[in-house]
Amino acid sequence: MIYMLEDEEGIRNFVIYALKSSGFEAEGFEAPSALYEAIKAELPELLLLDRMLPEEDGLEVLKKLRSVPETQKLPVIMLTAKGTELDKVEGLDNGADDYIAKPFGTMELISRIKALLRRTYGSSAETEKLSLGGIAVYPTKHEVFAEGEKVNLTLKEYDLLLMLMRHRGQVFSRDSLLREIWGYDFAGESRTVDVHIRTLRQKLGDCGELIETIRGVGYKAGDGSID
Ligand code: CA
Repeated sequence: MIYMLEDEEGIRNFVIYALKSSGFEAEGFEAPSALYEAIKAELPELLLLDRMLPEEDGLEVLKKLRSVPETQKLPVIMLTAKGTELDKVEGLDNGADDYIAKPFGTMELISRIKALLRRTYGSSAETEKLSLGGIAVYPTKHEVFAEGEKVNLTLKEYDLLLMLMRHRGQVFSRDSLLREIWGYDFAGESRTVDVHIRTLRQKLGDCGELIETIRGVGYKAGDGSID
């Protein structure tokens, strides 16, 4: 899980979408107070931290995180529009692990994230594998196999499959899938989900039946047991 604290909604949504498309779980927050709440519930593997924020400066947030044991070693990449040498030094002096200046491309951001995850957790983060029956998903490589055959999915089909496989046995309503994958401001219908599930199942061949329809509710993958 990667958290991003960034008050500009456009940038936040763009980055969160890019991260999810690259196989990461990611959640964005607008203000420091929301981030602190989220950290209490779940500690992320990495934090993307904007410098200019409401409530308090990104540097203050960083100092706070470094002052408590739980987040003392949390990998942090600072983002800033300023991009001056002084800013960079300040960020690093205060315990940021890396620094990226706006505007940045998502390719660069994601490769910096992967590099920092490798430095922090070793190479195992690169080869994470999720499996269910004959389906295998490699999130960091963004690859899906069914019965050993590579499957080419669209972004949304992939996101749906990853969501269901990361939460095996959990039933998702169409509305919750719409919100999670298309975004809460997506003006679509729940039928959109059905259409994507149908093409996803077709592409998975015989393995498609592992994605179950729960009548009147939504969808789930697997029964929560480990195979
Ligand atoms: Ca900002």
